[in-house]
Amino acid sequence: MINVGILYICTGKYSVFFEQFYESAEKYFIKNQNKTYYVFTDDVNIKERHNVKVINQPVLGWPYDTMKRFHMFNSIKDTLLNENYLFFFNANMKFVDYVNEEILPNEENDNLMAVNHPGFYNSPKGNFTYERRPQSRFYIPYNEGTIYYQGCLNGGKSDVFLDMTEKLAGMIDEDLSNDIIPVWWDESALNWYYKDKNPLAVSPSYAYPEGWNLPFEKKIIQLDKNKFGGYNFLRNL
Ligand code: UDP
Repeated sequence: MINVGILYICTGKYSVFFEQFYESAEKYFIKNQNKTYYVFTDDVNIKERHNVKVINQPVLGWPYDTMKRFHMFNSIKDTLLNENYLFFFNANMKFVDYVNEEILPNEENDNLMAVNHPGFYNSPKGNFTYERRPQSRFYIPYNEGTIYYQGCLNGGKSDVFLDMTEKLAGMIDEDLSNDIIPVWWDESALNWYYKDKNPLAVSPSYAYPEGWNLPFEKKIIQLDKNKFGGYNFLRNL
């Protein structure tokens, strides 16, 4: 048996998504291994269970609720190192089909994985929305990078993943101290870290936006936030 840690953030209004995420992951995700959910939330109604650990996480305000994710994970690094693999999922993701060991990265993948962004999987590189300002630590020139990853699902071997979160948290802090907010927050950071690596890039099947019409089967969907009040409502903007 391997130990798989699931990292999940739901502060403020995003806690509305937790139960359906949890139920769907219990039904469909890596069935025969040991799963532990690490839920970063301020919602006192989310209770610990045999495989759910709750980490009290106050609302930081947009965009810090998502951009400070690396800091959050680092804050329980010692606990997370007990897992063999770690996977982060956005709050509004829901499993609709079985997802098994095919998403575990190996040495060839530098022990990291992420999802090919459903909005960019067939776009020319020049359209990728990497951070393009040279002042940012996450700057990627137009001739670099081959895939645009979505920040909603990524993971890896625990020690390798946590090396990444340690590095990216520090770089986010550097940008903030220079009054720079990376254009797509954590996603800009992830793409920067992955650009010179060979992560397992799973298809948009694993992050299929509800209501879109893509040539991929649906394995994990991203629930339409408009059905939950929309972005601004959820982000408290
Ligand atoms: N998030 C949160 N509370 C907030 C805003 C964001 O918990 O107030 C977390 C949540 O896990 C969410 C993730 O940050 O899925 C990314 O934010 P969002 O879904 O708004 O960004 P998207 O990638 O969908 O544009």
